[in-house]
Amino acid sequence: MRIIVIGGGAAGMMAAVAAAEAGAGVALLEKNDRLGKKVYITGKGRCNVTNACEKEEFFAHIIRNPRFLYSAFDRFPNGDMMSFVEAHGTKLKTERGQRVFPASDHASDIIKALKKALDEAGVKVIFSAQAEKLQIRNGAVTGVVCTFADEEGKPKRKTLQADRVIVATGGLSYPGTGSTGDGYRFAEEAGHRVTDRMPSLVPLSARFEKPLSDRFSPKSLMGLSLKNVGILVEQGSKKITEDFGEMLFTHFGLSGPVILSASALLGTALEEENVKKKGPVRLHLDLKPALSEEQLDARFLREAAENKGKQLDTYLAGWMPKALIPVILGQAGVAPAQKVQTVSKAQRTDLIRAVKDLPVVITGLRGFDEAVVTRGGVDVKEIDPKTMASKKVSGLYFAGEVLDLDGTTGGFNLQIAWSTGYAAGKGATDNKED
Ligand SMILES: Cc1cc2nc3c(=O)[nH]c(=O)nc-3n(C[C@H](O)[C@H](O)[C@H](O)COP(=O)(O)OP(=O)(O)OC[C@H]3O[C@@H](n4cnc5c(N)ncnc54)[C@H](O)[C@@H]3O)c2cc1C
Repeated sequence: MRIIVIGGGAAGMMAAVAAAEAGAGVALLEKNDRLGKKVYITGKGRCNVTNACEKEEFFAHIIRNPRFLYSAFDRFPNGDMMSFVEAHGTKLKTERGQRVFPASDHASDIIKALKKALDEAGVKVIFSAQAEKLQIRNGAVTGVVCTFADEEGKPKRKTLQADRVIVATGGLSYPGTGSTGDGYRFAEEAGHRVTDRMPSLVPLSARFEKPLSDRFSPKSLMGLSLKNVGILVEQGSKKITEDFGEMLFTHFGLSGPVILSASALLGTALEEENVKKKGPVRLHLDLKPALSEEQLDARFLREAAENKGKQLDTYLAGWMPKALIPVILGQAGVAPAQKVQTVSKAQRTDLIRAVKDLPVVITGLRGFDEAVVTRGGVDVKEIDPKTMASKKVSGLYFAGEVLDLDGTTGGFNLQIAWSTGYAAGKGATDNKED
């Protein structure tokens, strides 16, 4: 049996190995001149290859269509991925939050393990090969129309015949790595529904509220990184998410781990119609999540007695990074030059409220070129969850980010790719006689 896998990313490499190990003749088409260009940049170059948590917790981190993923995950769970990588020569380590990385901290070692597996399984990898179109005859896929570079580097078109085709072309995020959304077009041309796509795990555009926004913007705090802050995101009175961790102010708004995680839950809320109907999405920033307003008030009173004569802005340097002081004082409506001992109870209340709840209006998601993953994709209702087979076209399979599946940060998105890639590779070879 001849199988073509389109896309030499995480899902495609795994699909090719699984299919070839089952005895199929497999060609892996990759439009770049190397495999796994995106995998190289994952986890800031360290590749958070999976998450070692228990199954139940794993699925709590899958945002879109977790139920669809059950069978594929059972077929190739996180533990199997870890054994696979180690069996192919790359040692792993597990860090905080059960995040799994190569022991060397080099994403390249994950690719090395996959290349070794591809080699051992006898997969033919064809580089600089761009799939243009699926060839479909009488409801069955029969090949892939592809553009190659010939010896002189000129593009040459050719149709490669196949009994099965696995589409693993990725999503739309970081298109510079090769994931430019070609698979969505292949799916639509094959009669599949593709759900709306939007960036996820992405920085957020934001502004302060009036009157603070007349004087300050997140841009005025650009580069400021905050550790151990709390965030609560609401639309109207409806809580969307609450988290704790690290964030960053940027020239357009907010970024950093807690912000990226929150972004995964904000896409729909930020749609124009929803904002019109339900009001703006607000993030409430808590600079001192470990302390209550009462505890902060007691601290202020105690320290004010010890710091008589000091200006408020000087005194507050012990509470927060310098750049934030004028913003917090602006929000509280208290003058920076006011002496600590003259702060009234009402002013103290306003000040502490601003420290515990600095509202920031989220105005949008940033674009696909900054997004870790794509939300939306090939509608999983039209895909067999055990084999990743198309229910529309015989012999056609999908795996990885091209499907309408996504998770939070922590190794979950790559595990989606490994599990669905494996299921597709095995699924395509399940029925060997045809
Ligand atoms: C900056 C960044 C950091 C990330 N860090 C992590 C992390 O640490 N942990 C984690 O779990 N997830 C992480 N992710 C997400 C993870 O990388 C993706 O979810 C995963 O790579 C998706 O795998 P895939 O195989 O579906 O797609 P991809 O890895 O994008 O692979 C698709 C491949 O298909 C090729 N291709 C596309 N179209 C064609 C065509 N027409 N013909 C031939 N080839 C084609 C592309 O060139 C590409 O190589 C990160 C993502 C980004 C952008």
